[in-house]
Amino acid sequence: MTDDIRLKMGLRPVINVSGTMTSLGASIVVPEAVAAVTAALPQFIEINDLQKHASRTIARLTGGEAGFVTASCAAAITLSVAGTMTGDDRAAIERLPDTSRLPRDEVVIQSGHMVGYGAPVEQGIRLAGAKVVPVGQATSAEAYQLAGAINERTAAAVYVVSHHTVQYGQMPLAEFAEVAHSKGVPVIVDAASEYDLRGFLAAGGDLALYSSHKFLGGPTGGIVAGRKDLVRAAYLQNSGIGRGMKVGKEGIVGTIAALEAWERRDHAGIRTREQAALDLWQETLEPFEGVNPVIDPDPTNNPLDRLKVWVAADAAHITAWDLADQLARHDTQPIIVRDHEVEHGYFYLDPCNLHPGQAEIVAGRLREELETARRSNTVIASDFAARRKRRAVNTWPD
Ligand SMILES: *Cc1c(COP(=O)(O)O)cnc(C)c1O
Repeated sequence: MTDDIRLKMGLRPVINVSGTMTSLGASIVVPEAVAAVTAALPQFIEINDLQKHASRTIARLTGGEAGFVTASCAAAITLSVAGTMTGDDRAAIERLPDTSRLPRDEVVIQSGHMVGYGAPVEQGIRLAGAKVVPVGQATSAEAYQLAGAINERTAAAVYVVSHHTVQYGQMPLAEFAEVAHSKGVPVIVDAASEYDLRGFLAAGGDLALYSSHKFLGGPTGGIVAGRKDLVRAAYLQNSGIGRGMKVGKEGIVGTIAALEAWERRDHAGIRTREQAALDLWQETLEPFEGVNPVIDPDPTNNPLDRLKVWVAADAAHITAWDLADQLARHDTQPIIVRDHEVEHGYFYLDPCNLHPGQAEIVAGRLREELETARRSNTVIASDFAARRKRRAVNTWPD
């Protein structure tokens, strides 16, 4: 542990049981990608040829006609939308984000999909110069509303697959794509965090967008896959608004390596290891009064379960958020849980980003904090509203 680069920089050696979070450094990059990045960094590489190589790999894994690597999935959204407006017109590409001379600059999206992943999805669309046209209400969107929102100025329809979106009342992708296609409008699917590399193109997406640094375990990057003309139009934005979203050789090479490793990965073995961590945590938590740990399948059907840990404050002597904060506060073994819904009295433990031995550390720390709470004469219950306010303030760099 003494050669841990985090300790050398005075940073905390966090253990991540929250999932793939940009604020924590995304994911554990797979050794194949680390090796490829290390090999590529000292070399000159012809980037267009490297991207052609990436295109073949992306096409093989996604079933799309072509693809390329971007700086991030957020960049992929902006570049893809830009491409649907400009096509391969180089002059139009250089004029963006000015769309005043383009025939189409509107993008439809279901209101329940206008979420944030750390930045607003709709801002990624507007960044290209496009105008966002919301469809339906947050709680429901219907085919007639989508059909009514599309007109002769509609350049694209964006569909978001994510646990962030409203999980009911939304059109399934196939229905959404059928309406869009009946009006000649291409469908861009933001599938940043999804394991399924083929399903969204198969279900009617014209482009599917992914993050390299999430489940794939690549370096920071994004993937655009799908229809060749749309992929090309998005790629050409690199000599326009895409310049500020440049991906380097390391991102491209690392993404290719991560995709190839994904093809060969022992998915069943990983699932078994994740299941063992969940079982350990469940066994650890079950004896505690007021704590109810239940296995919770991923809301967007990724092959991933999490442990949903219900904490009844009166019986456990601690609230769910105080337990989460106690785990995170520790000096030498800070543990970050998935706490975005913690006001409801539960948090999740996500097993997809663990190094060997960390599941046991997490179990030990849970036991320690819950035993401390049990011995406490009062219920550890800080004011949730104050916590919420405190966390909304960003004082960086102080
Ligand atoms: C993470 C995420 C993004 C952004 O992906 P980056 O590659 O980190 O830019 C976009 N959309 C959704 C649904 C996400 O989960």
